[in-house]
This record gives sequence, structure tokens and C-alpha cells, in this order.
Amino acid sequence: MTSERECINLIRQYAGNRENDFLVKGIGDDCAVLQKDEAAYLLLTTDTLVEGIHFDLAWHPPYLLGRKSASVNLSDIAAMGGLPRACLLSIAFPGVVPAWFEEFIAGFTEALKEADTQLVGGDTVKGHNDIVITVTLIGEADKKNVCFRSTSQPGDLVWVTGFLGNGAAGLELCRNGLHAAGASAEKWQPLIKAHLDPEPLIGLGAVLAASGFVRAMMDISDGLATDLAHLCKESGVGAEVQQDKLPVLPLLEQAAAELDADPLDWLLKGGEDYQLLFTTRPSDEQQLRNLVAEQSGAKITVIGHITDGSGVYLSSGGTRREISYQGYDHFQKTNQ
Ligand SMILES: [Mg+2]
Repeated sequence: MTSERECINLIRQYAGNRENDFLVKGIGDDCAVLQKDEAAYLLLTTDTLVEGIHFDLAWHPPYLLGRKSASVNLSDIAAMGGLPRACLLSIAFPGVVPAWFEEFIAGFTEALKEADTQLVGGDTVKGHNDIVITVTLIGEADKKNVCFRSTSQPGDLVWVTGFLGNGAAGLELCRNGLHAAGASAEKWQPLIKAHLDPEPLIGLGAVLAASGFVRAMMDISDGLATDLAHLCKESGVGAEVQQDKLPVLPLLEQAAAELDADPLDWLLKGGEDYQLLFTTRPSDEQQLRNLVAEQSGAKITVIGHITDGSGVYLSSGGTRREISYQGYDHFQKTNQ
């Protein structure tokens, strides 16, 4: 077993699929979905951040790390079109509780407060070498609005919110020391912020879900190439993405030139976008654009369409190549 995907498939096989009156959706979406009452579902999601893998205290200020630890989980609730309700935090420290922990918890609780939710419990333990942070969020979604990954159809348009690749570009800028105070940090600020302090799109997720136009939705945490492949697999479809439609911030192209990096890698494979990826019928395109312009003002872009079959393909200048699962994989040193 080498990949994260194989690991999850094994877990899924053993967990079984006993969806019933209480369990609406088990493993395979941004959140597990449980019955709450006549009108609403409960959403459950958890995420772990490991020092040296998901964050580096050399450049990640503890306050912003606290915010990010909450935000990446809030993003999974947004991806279902839900609202967060309560949070659990478990944290393992290698030795004594570090002095910066107060800043961390201030940032963590501030991000929860902004999302109108609250920390209600958790655990603190002594670990070995690295700090490990595990966050669990409970949310809620209207039954009529909840958005799964598994419900896209061939012919649907594929959309993304905002710009792709900014988080990956920000990470590379930090790795190269360009986050340090001074003119360069200011210049790259939108990219560095996308890495250090990503914004969970709860309001936009709720607008999209309530629109009635979204057929399937998820957030982009492991890169478009991997996350669109997940959506396609769960829906039993394929997808074709047009390279020239990918929304790219001009600043990202400048950063790629500065660091001698391939901007397309960041757009497709970078991970940590925390933008929303969703599909709609083509006939709903204009109405959705009007509604989002009116209720949110967020940027939304059609990047391709859902096809019969399987696999995610990127088309550019008459050529077409498969890019399924080429994003971030936690258990591989280099991407596939
Ligand atoms: Mg997700």
C-alpha cells in the first residue's frame, strides 16, 4: 500500500457501508452525514495537522496556525453547504506546553467565533517529537440544501470559486524566506495569507447550496487534480477541464517566475486552496451567476464539464492528458 487513496479504500472496506435511517453518508464525502430531525442533517468532520508536514513554526505565527487549524475544518462544513455548530480540539505536545500556545488558542477560538461556533471540548496529551493537532467539527445542513460529492451528472458544468493555487504558491514563498518583513512580504501578501490564514467559505457555500443549482460540491484541499477525481469517482463520472479556463491570479504567475516554478503545478496539484469545487446543469449557468453576484459577489468560474466514463482530463491547445489524482498525497514523497 503506497497511497493515501489505497489506505482510505482499506479503511472504507473494513468500516463497511451500513447507511440506514440514522447514517445518511459514511466515508467518502467532506463530512459524514447523520439524521438530526425532520428538516436538518448533522455533519461531522475531522482533520489532523502535524508539525513539519502541515505547518512549520519557523514561518507560521502561532495565532495564524490556530486560525488555520479551525479554518481547514470549517471548510469541510462549507463544502456540504452547512453551518458549523460545535468544535472539539485535541493536541499532543512533545514536552511542556509551549509559551506560544496561548496565541494559538486565541487564533483558533477567534476563527470559530467568526464562523459563529464554539470550542466545547477535546484533549491535551504529551506526545513524542512533533506537535499534532486534531480538530473535529459538528455542523448542520438543511436536508433540502445539503451538497454531496456523489450527485454530479454527465454534461454538468464544473465550477471553482476564487483563484486556484494561491495556498501552494504561498507555501513556496514561505519556504524560500520571502514571507519575512519588508517589501517582498507585502508584495506577496495575498499568496502568503492564502497559505498561513486561509478563509473558510461558509457564507458562499451556504449561498451555493441554497441556490438549488448545485448538483455536487466539495472543497479543494489536496489540489484540483485529486479533488475533482474524488468527486468524479463518488459520482461515477469523468471530467474534462480546460487549462485556459483555470482562474489564476497574475501575482501567482509572478511568484512562479520569481521561484522558477511551474504555475500549472500549483493550480492543479498544490493543495490547500480551500476553494469550493461544484457542478451544475449548463442551463442553470446564468441564473447562478446572477444569484452569486447579488448575494455574495464572489468570483466563480466554469473550468470544464462532467463526462461519461471516468478520469479527469486536462485539455489545452488540442491536446488532452489525464491528471486524475495528481495532487497532494500524504503518503508519497513525490506526487504521482
Ligand atoms: Mg474536504
